[in-house]
Amino acid sequence: MDFDDLVKTGTVKFSLNVKKEKKLKLRYEPVELKARYTFNIANQDVAGDIFRNVVVHLEYDGITGCGEAAPFEIYGENQRTVMAALDTITPCIEKMKTPWEAESLMEYLDRKLERNFAAKAAIDMALFDLQGKICDLPVYRLLGLSVEKIPMSTYTIGIDSEEVIREKANQVADYPLLKIKVGGPEDIKTIKIVRSEAPQARLRVDANCGWQPRQALKMIEQLVEFGVEFIEQPLPAENKEGARWLYERSPLPLMADESCERLEDIPECIGRFDAINIKLAKCGGIRHALKMIGCARAHQLNVMLGCMVETSIGVTAAAHIAPLVDYIDLDGSELTSNDPCHGMTFDKGKIILSDKPGLGVEMRSFQEVECVES
Ligand SMILES: [Mg+2]
Repeated sequence: MDFDDLVKTGTVKFSLNVKKEKKLKLRYEPVELKARYTFNIANQDVAGDIFRNVVVHLEYDGITGCGEAAPFEIYGENQRTVMAALDTITPCIEKMKTPWEAESLMEYLDRKLERNFAAKAAIDMALFDLQGKICDLPVYRLLGLSVEKIPMSTYTIGIDSEEVIREKANQVADYPLLKIKVGGPEDIKTIKIVRSEAPQARLRVDANCGWQPRQALKMIEQLVEFGVEFIEQPLPAENKEGARWLYERSPLPLMADESCERLEDIPECIGRFDAINIKLAKCGGIRHALKMIGCARAHQLNVMLGCMVETSIGVTAAAHIAPLVDYIDLDGSELTSNDPCHGMTFDKGKIILSDKPGLGVEMRSFQEVECVES
């Protein structure tokens, strides 16, 4: 049998020398995160037991990057709007022949989807993850950052009954930094309980828009005695005059969270706040967060990186740029009981990032999670 016969019988198969075109491929999966404790804060639109997020997988040339959308109704998004946004942009993303035109792609998505910031943040994280994996470098290295500069994170204690607050505070008494949610009728009692259970901890307070100006001033004057370091979002975001009035009188620094969603909100924070809380799901991802950090610095505003209730993908993505900020609050995956991913380690507030390429996050199945957590 000669060579032609081998080909005819299929013993030898030719592969035509046609270069396969490389393209990005996007898929997503909804995830349902269970809160370790019912998450209660002053804004009931955010509180709950179940948090419905979306994990995206962006594949290129056999390598997959992942990202997460952690939508919140107060910012006009939920799991359904995220999935609808991803469906809308999939054809455009899948036309991309390289993940290295990420800036152009994200600019296009900003034009195509005016809002949908959590959905866009997921794509942005996945692009960084993909680029890091292609270069075999962690994202913080790609950005020229040093993990030694990551500040200690707070751990959050939500609004709850006296008994539950005592139990939670007791469990985390040796954590160096605690963030206490207030904005309910028992605020001072809550702070007293946490202070007595965790006498060594440094305390920060988040009112989630729960106070009015004169009430806020009275509360803040009392909180000075408990060694509280700063107050996050004392007033509703729309009360801009109230924010200015309070800023001129407050004995403690004030931080904008609901008042500062994106880059364009920063000028309004000057003369109303001392710091801003940047969240990837709120601003549209890592590249938008980097712009916000630069802008805040130019206006002498301190910066915190915060999170929603999210898997290790979202908090780990934020941790990669944490060396650039003053404070972090990246306990989102710690507040859940079924995180489907392995990512950064949260050791009593100390964040440890691995030196794995990209974000350094691996998915595990929910079945595995149920086994581990039960
Ligand atoms: Mg907040």
